[in-house]
Amino acid sequence: MIKKDYYQVLEVGRNASGDEVKKAYRRLALKYHPDRNPGSKEAEEKFKEASEAYEVLRDAERRRVYDQFGHDGLQGRGFHGFTGAEDIFTTFSDLFGDIFGGGFGGGGRGANLRYDLEIKLKDVVLGKKVDIDIKKHDLCPVCHGTRAKPGASPIPCVACGGTGQAVHNHGFLSLSTPCSRCNGEGRIITEFCGNCRGTGRVIRDKKLTVPIPPGVEDGMQLRIRGEGEAGERRRPPGDLYVIIHIEEQSIFARRGRDLLCQAPISFAQAALGAQIQVPTLEGETTLEIPSGTPTGKVFALHREGLPELHGRSRGSILVRVEVQVPAKLTSEEEQLIREFAKLRQEDVAPEKKGFFDRLLHKV
Ligand SMILES: [Zn+2]
Ligand SMILES: [Zn+2]
Repeated sequence: MIKKDYYQVLEVGRNASGDEVKKAYRRLALKYHPDRNPGSKEAEEKFKEASEAYEVLRDAERRRVYDQFGHDGLQGRGFHGFTGAEDIFTTFSDLFGDIFGGGFGGGGRGANLRYDLEIKLKDVVLGKKVDIDIKKHDLCPVCHGTRAKPGASPIPCVACGGTGQAVHNHGFLSLSTPCSRCNGEGRIITEFCGNCRGTGRVIRDKKLTVPIPPGVEDGMQLRIRGEGEAGERRRPPGDLYVIIHIEEQSIFARRGRDLLCQAPISFAQAALGAQIQVPTLEGETTLEIPSGTPTGKVFALHREGLPELHGRSRGSILVRVEVQVPAKLTSEEEQLIREFAKLRQEDVAPEKKGFFDRLLHKV
């Protein structure tokens, strides 16, 4: 890949002063900042390119080498560009603090996270505690987010006298903003923590127990405060949103708090009455079928459905019975049904001999 000339990238002349270089970079960084160009690969590339050019031209020694030997001269001198935007923010934190008023990415809180959780229908009844694993930016366990190497004491910021606030006097008004030199921290880190490379955050796996309340609905979001990503520079963490998905299953269809299911019964059971077993969320229960039950009749099992969120009432299980007609009859069964039809003077199709029957009778 052919690298562009650093002066061209920053759009400055070869004799530009340090201040002009800084100004040019600030202008480009503002224009191509990832927060202002979300998702734009081109902007990200330009941002990286400008940052790299600035990293070289702001340093008198590197600039001299670059002027004399070009890009090749910088190889093997510990300069290797940037891996990503975060790397750039860390390196030029003083400059970015200045540009963005001390906060990157708006608000400065850590990012919110989303976790999709599938639960069983029966867990809706009693609620459940579910263990989940999330991967997130968390505070570095070595420096606890201070970014400084343990034991190395940061020095108070001279620009703000360690207060972290820059005071601007406008006549009788005095305004304070986060100090741009120390990013509002009041101190300058001399030695960075090696574990997090001075970012104060590391990517960690975290186990959490999420309490699912009884009566949750599909698509509901549970917000767990402070369990999103850790904020940069010890800013407050974001929140974790657990999205509830209730497992689809074949036995029950949901209608609000009620659950619908079908139960097959035989013609004899429908005619004479019976006790049948029907499914519930917790197992099974006995349903009394009275004699003379027509197909399609719905029986309600009260308080066997889903509970209300934060409430005490429960819906019902609605069982719709379906009278099954046997597809095949033995000859004895057929004779009995024929007799039954005859008693009731019902017209039925005449008896048919099966193919093998006829074959046998011919012999
Ligand atoms: Zn650390
Ligand atoms: Zn300061």
